[in-house]
Amino acid sequence: MKQRTIPLRILVNEALLRRLPPNHPKRQDILKDLLIKRAGFKGEQDMDYYISLLDDKDFYIFQDLRIPLGPNYFQIDFLLLSTKFALLIENKNMPGIIEFDPDFNQVLRKHNDQAEVYDDPVLQVKRQIYQFRNWLINHQLTPLPLEFLVTYSNTGSILQNPSKNQEIYDRVCKGGKLVFKVAEYQQRHQKEILSMKEIKKLTKLLIKSHEPKKATIDRYNISPSEILPGVLCPACSRGPMERISGKWFCPQCKTTSTSAHEQAILDYLFLLGPTITNKQLRRFLLIPSRTVATYLLGNMNLQHTGGTKNRVYSNK
Ligand SMILES: [Zn+2]
Repeated sequence: MKQRTIPLRILVNEALLRRLPPNHPKRQDILKDLLIKRAGFKGEQDMDYYISLLDDKDFYIFQDLRIPLGPNYFQIDFLLLSTKFALLIENKNMPGIIEFDPDFNQVLRKHNDQAEVYDDPVLQVKRQIYQFRNWLINHQLTPLPLEFLVTYSNTGSILQNPSKNQEIYDRVCKGGKLVFKVAEYQQRHQKEILSMKEIKKLTKLLIKSHEPKKATIDRYNISPSEILPGVLCPACSRGPMERISGKWFCPQCKTTSTSAHEQAILDYLFLLGPTITNKQLRRFLLIPSRTVATYLLGNMNLQHTGGTKNRVYSNK
């Protein structure tokens, strides 16, 4: 019903790494955050395979929902919705030894001779259950039984439960076990709770309520003046390229391109947007001609508002 898209935070991080000077002090933080976010995204993609093994007539499947609830959001990697129950899945992509400590709601991860501590994901998904139930009640929807699971999609995760806690055994598993856990829940919940009409209403409302998380450069305290302008070379990543006879030319490696400005415009929208005007574009691409800027923007299939003189462009 709803497919995930690349998180904005990944796109913003990538754009920042392209456009901050090589010696910028925030580069390490940005790279670290990018790798974590990419691993999470990859883990969810890997989980898709195990979810695709389920009979798809039984479930409405939502990937990566983020729904406002009061002053907060409730966010879930996967929601599987049936007329009898719903299953919320929080997925982790984490190689290494993962040791659960339910007494203190923490998880210890040992990997490459390093130990790190994380919040208990079971508690995390229980909070999501609590929020989802409240959201259903707030919208006068029938609160159906809610099941939850924490999955580890990485085949290199070594799960350990030293205190033999039953809830950890019940609620945490490797991705490969998902179909069997779902079969258990189907056995447990055989009563129809929602009519087809109700489930369609719920589905529509979930899709309508979803708000993707915004990402800005404020997060790193980076000011717009630190972002390097110019079209970057698709071959050697250096800039700025020069506009010569309707093409972009790299003075460093002599590569030419007709489309190198597209990434630059997207970088602008991610980092300095969400909108761009003709004048802002000329300044960012380092081109003097208004006509050329209009031509380049026109070919980008961006949304625009305003007349020809004061037109503002944005990405969808
Ligand atoms: Zn080049």
